[in-house]
Amino acid sequence: MLNMEAPRPTEGFFARELGALLAPDRIRVGAAAARAYECDAYTVDRAEPWAIALPESTEEVAVLVRWCVRHGVPFTPRGAGTGLSGGAMAARGGIIVSTKRMTQILEVDLPNRRILAQAGIANKRLSDAVAAAGLHFAPDPSSQTVSTLGGNIAENSGGPHTLKYGVTAQHILGLTLVDPTGEVVHLGGDATGGPGLDFVGLVVGAEGTLGIVTEAWVKLTPLPEAVHTLLASFAEIDQATASVAEIVGSGILPAALEMMDEGIMRAVSQAFRLSYPEGARALLLIECDGAPEASAKEAAEAERICRAHRALAVEIAEDEAARQRLWIARKKGIGAMGRLAPSIVTHDGVIPRSKLPEMLRFVYEVAEQHRLLVANIFHAGDGNLHPCFGFDDRDPEQIRQVVEAGEKILRKCVELGGSLSGEHGVGVEKSELMSLMFSPDDLCLQADAKRIFNEGDLCNPCKVFPSQKGCIEHRARWRGVAW
Ligand SMILES: Cc1cc2nc3c(=O)[nH]c(=O)nc-3n(C[C@H](O)[C@H](O)[C@H](O)COP(=O)(O)OP(=O)(O)OC[C@H]3O[C@@H](n4cnc5c(N)ncnc54)[C@H](O)[C@@H]3O)c2cc1C
Repeated sequence: MLNMEAPRPTEGFFARELGALLAPDRIRVGAAAARAYECDAYTVDRAEPWAIALPESTEEVAVLVRWCVRHGVPFTPRGAGTGLSGGAMAARGGIIVSTKRMTQILEVDLPNRRILAQAGIANKRLSDAVAAAGLHFAPDPSSQTVSTLGGNIAENSGGPHTLKYGVTAQHILGLTLVDPTGEVVHLGGDATGGPGLDFVGLVVGAEGTLGIVTEAWVKLTPLPEAVHTLLASFAEIDQATASVAEIVGSGILPAALEMMDEGIMRAVSQAFRLSYPEGARALLLIECDGAPEASAKEAAEAERICRAHRALAVEIAEDEAARQRLWIARKKGIGAMGRLAPSIVTHDGVIPRSKLPEMLRFVYEVAEQHRLLVANIFHAGDGNLHPCFGFDDRDPEQIRQVVEAGEKILRKCVELGGSLSGEHGVGVEKSELMSLMFSPDDLCLQADAKRIFNEGDLCNPCKVFPSQKGCIEHRARWRGVAW
């Protein structure tokens, strides 16, 4: 057992020990590797891992975890590292267990509309594999070309089509997990709704705190017969949010109902030379899908509602190429923001849809108070807000401003009857805010549930649960910053 207070063992120790478990070329140590894995897409918090391991199978993951337990070394599962709440960061050092080499599709079962794959496969590859059969994996985070099945499961990821098709939890039938002792467990089964306690449901969204998912059976969903896509532009944010409220209130269930503000339009216009109607301050992307006649009727009704709320223009996609063009602002908006500032933080909170106008006003006020570049791109139909702040993460003062602004926004979400997170998870970013939503009793119950799988504190420490031992001092965010 390593003594965590004693000086950290040498790189040579990890390379030798872990290299004997896997293969030397599947272990990374040294400064360059540590820097490459020191954070995910939430760049505010950083901590260097001691080594990175690249297993290729469930058995190899189990062997690694058992080694970590024997030596008292923390370990953190990691997929593509696109997480936005610091979940894949090695908060207390230790080993990053990367699923980068676990990308196999193990079985395609079309008659039962399901597919078995390793956890490191990119989300979109699942859909690509069954597109010819008219099927897809419905959860579609905007990061889907790179983010992994394991990461999607851990974060219970959503996407623009969550409004109609649900989040990842609704699409996972069963999974293989290496628990925090190194035991391999199979949870769930071939079909939804099996008897007994829903342990799959507990693991989905647990942010890698209950073990490492190595394989999963996922449900496949038929591709819609028809898709109708509209992009409405508005001179006022409130006209767009009022349209959202009326569309949802009218009983239409769009597949996607997404909103972008002026900040996103500016970023996208610069990056892709797109132009939007003069005076537009908000865009609403609406997609209706399903049976041809019914979805066309829904799209026509959504268009009528937007025009009734004085849309400046409503563009309707006539073919797939036009549809892709209308989606650009939504799909590439965050990336385009990245060109305007050295770093960005995309926050994630939920509010009741009816509170959207009040909440957006609050976001702009907070950005002004903290002198931050802000843009909003979000799942309006779900009330899932993503204020995106541009800043320079080399400047501790700007980090402080971003963190404070984010906390104000999340507090307001909870105050308005919403939630701390819609889809990006709690990670390290929000663990200390959990008490805003949960009473001490609720938190104790969650900690008890965690202990069923995870008795110790080695598996993805410092994530989700507040006040964990030895966490604050590993957070770069607190270093050199006066709070
Ligand atoms: C540009 C951009 C757009 C995004 N859009 C969306 C969006 O629309 N919707 C959305 O929900 N999210 C979105 N995200 C966030 C992110 O892509 C998702 O949370 C995604 O699911 C993370 O997958 P990953 O493979 O990158 O996981 P990582 O970032 O590597 O890890 C995320 C968490 O999962 C855990 N984990 C990873 N693999 C495993 C495993 N095999 N077993 C157990 N735990 C594991 C990690 O420990 C960590 O806690 C976006 C991110 C970016 C950068």
